[in-house]
Amino acid sequence: MQKWVYIFLLVSISCKSNHEDYFKRISANDEKLEEPKPGEWLHEHKEKGQTFQRFVRSNPTKPTALKNTISIQPIGLFDNHQNRQLEKMRQYLEAFFQLPVEILPAISNQIIPGTKWRIGSENQHQILAPYILDSVLIKRKSDKMVALMAISQLDLYPKPEWNFVFGLSSLKNNVGVTSIHRFRTRNQTGTDTLLFLRRLLKVSSHEIGHMFGLKHCIEARCVMNGSNSLDETDRGTLRLCSHCQRKIQFSIQFDPEDRTKTLLNFLNSIGFKADYKILHTDLN
Ligand SMILES: [Zn+2]
Ligand SMILES: [Zn+2]
Repeated sequence: MQKWVYIFLLVSISCKSNHEDYFKRISANDEKLEEPKPGEWLHEHKEKGQTFQRFVRSNPTKPTALKNTISIQPIGLFDNHQNRQLEKMRQYLEAFFQLPVEILPAISNQIIPGTKWRIGSENQHQILAPYILDSVLIKRKSDKMVALMAISQLDLYPKPEWNFVFGLSSLKNNVGVTSIHRFRTRNQTGTDTLLFLRRLLKVSSHEIGHMFGLKHCIEARCVMNGSNSLDETDRGTLRLCSHCQRKIQFSIQFDPEDRTKTLLNFLNSIGFKADYKILHTDLN
């Protein structure tokens, strides 16, 4: 009996050290952040970052056997093209977080009361994002959901003095919202479809990353970097840097190499060659 306990301990210690080796090894692939230029996120927002120790001390959300599903709640009217992109996003998020992801039936924009709407500077309808978190999502969260993210067809704003926001999350309640309004391109066929999808993958994985306790990353180029504009989002990477991969692995306990392989298969299947090339270095 004692022998088995001893062997088990050895196995678990060796698994842990393998992962630590992995994160150390892939840190060689972390690309340094350039000096922020005026208008970019880090130029406008002085951020302190988040060490691994601070992340652990924050008691981040961890999935359990019963509470392990990431649920996506579309709000508004989505056409067939957009629904196909949402399904691709679902597959990507399953690979990214190594957890089951489901898309719930869409609910109407009419659920938002008139006082929580406004007309934005481009004459577009905008919804007050905190209302979606506090009054729409929290009460819809079931016991199996480790995170619940709404996808809004309309533009969002976080507070009256802000023009807009791509997405907003609550670390405490594990809910968030992402808008597809600004991801649209003039022509949603061919390469533009890929651009729309890339924005959707990037912002949704970033917002759900917040729900698992990740703060904005200032260590390296990383999907958890803050973004001030669509240009900055498009220039950014889909990859989680080694620091952020280590944090999310601490919570979700996936095999990081298996995760990278699943993500590579997905990126290959949708033809994201540049993102595939960057992530592939993590296997070398
Ligand atoms: Zn963010
Ligand atoms: Zn990072």
